[in-house]
Amino acid sequence: MRAIRSAVPVDRAPRVAAPPVEPYRIKVVEAITLPSAEEREHALRRAGFNVFNLLSEEVFVDLLTDSGTSAMSDRQWAGLMVGDESYAGSRNFVHFEETVRELTGFPHILPAHQGRAAEHLLFGQLAHPGDIVPNNMHFDTTRAHVLHVGARPLDLAVPEAYDCEDRSPFKGNVDTRKLSALLSGPLAAKVPLVVVTLTNNTGGGQPVALANLKEVARICREHRKPLYLDICRWAENAYFIRTGEPGQGARSIREIGREIFDLADGAVMSAKKDGLVNMGGFVATRDPGLASRLKEDLILFEGFPTYGGLARRDLEAIAIGLREATDERYLEHRVGQVRFLAALLDAHGVPMMQPPGGHGVYLDVGRFLPHLSPEQHPGQALVVELYREGAVRAVEIGSIMFEDPSGKERSPLDLVRLAIPRRVYTESHLRYVAETVARVWARRDSVRGLAMVEAPERLRHFTARFAPLVG
Ligand SMILES: *Cc1c(COP(=O)(O)O)cnc(C)c1O
Repeated sequence: MRAIRSAVPVDRAPRVAAPPVEPYRIKVVEAITLPSAEEREHALRRAGFNVFNLLSEEVFVDLLTDSGTSAMSDRQWAGLMVGDESYAGSRNFVHFEETVRELTGFPHILPAHQGRAAEHLLFGQLAHPGDIVPNNMHFDTTRAHVLHVGARPLDLAVPEAYDCEDRSPFKGNVDTRKLSALLSGPLAAKVPLVVVTLTNNTGGGQPVALANLKEVARICREHRKPLYLDICRWAENAYFIRTGEPGQGARSIREIGREIFDLADGAVMSAKKDGLVNMGGFVATRDPGLASRLKEDLILFEGFPTYGGLARRDLEAIAIGLREATDERYLEHRVGQVRFLAALLDAHGVPMMQPPGGHGVYLDVGRFLPHLSPEQHPGQALVVELYREGAVRAVEIGSIMFEDPSGKERSPLDLVRLAIPRRVYTESHLRYVAETVARVWARRDSVRGLAMVEAPERLRHFTARFAPLVG
């Protein structure tokens, strides 16, 4: 099943092959407009130089996140119309539960309003004050939820995950030697569960190899620790396994997925990613005792177990979207868009995390703005500059998102993510983004730093305010 490629020569960047042609056509459009330079400057000031405070109408191409920003299919929209909004026992829940069970094999499925709600439930039950939770790399909300219960998040990614120039294909892998040492060492009793995030969002959307997952599962079994997966981008991860891991090329995404899930005790998922919906998530587990405790918490925090904080029609859209996300032509186009944007930027010499991952291009801030010191918040300065240049909205994934507020621990990676929403933008939007980034790259020496003038204690990247440094 090969995707159709454009036969039209790409004139403006002859060295870059076009991405696969969209395996869909557009039925509904949403107008976007490019604000003037003056309007962008005004918007930045009002927003306190934090693009989370911009109105979406002030943005031209919005690459802030791929979370909940997917375009739903006609079938998903049709699914909303067969919503059965019964408080209990809705048929949409039945369809949702059947689908998640069929795809994952996990017997107990609890819907939640989004990924962090699933994390709240899972860590609320499994992690306790003083515990240590290992993960390849914690994403922002995962980290915050581990901290919220008084436990310590510990990142155990392989060393190459921290090297933007290393081109290993599975940089999301767990350092199994370190995991083994942790679980055989004096702190082993403090580890309530092991988590692996597919793909590694914090480290560039890098995939985890099936061989690595098998080894992690073996170590967890040996030490009797439950293994939970963050599967919000599992289909993208399975696509990398299919196309990049020896012996996997003939297998379907669902087969690979099923082998991955069979290794684990359960999972959390933000369906806002590979569920192709705007809202939703779930927790899944094989443990019936845990499932009933989770159910009690679910009723307290989210809602009755057959809706879990969602409209029942949303569960229908998730059930349909989860299947659509396993279509190989869709995934080839999706990952192809990311690779295309990376190739355009690479042709200009723009430094980024290589190889490009599954859901976005991550610019390497240290090599982009080497003249700015960490105190000048170069990642945020780059995000601001991309907006200033072309109303492109990106996000800092580095010290502001991950440094602890005391400033003692600096994030080992300083990246700016250009996340590509699913089925939303076309090749020409990506060309526009590449040209915007390339113009900032050409005048990078002129980019000045920022001071953080307001910083909340937790998840501060969402609401902090900044001011330009003068001089
Ligand atoms: C998005 C995300 C979450 C949290 O999901 P939300 O639906 O945004 O609450 C958790 N883990 C990872 C890796 C994510 O990318």
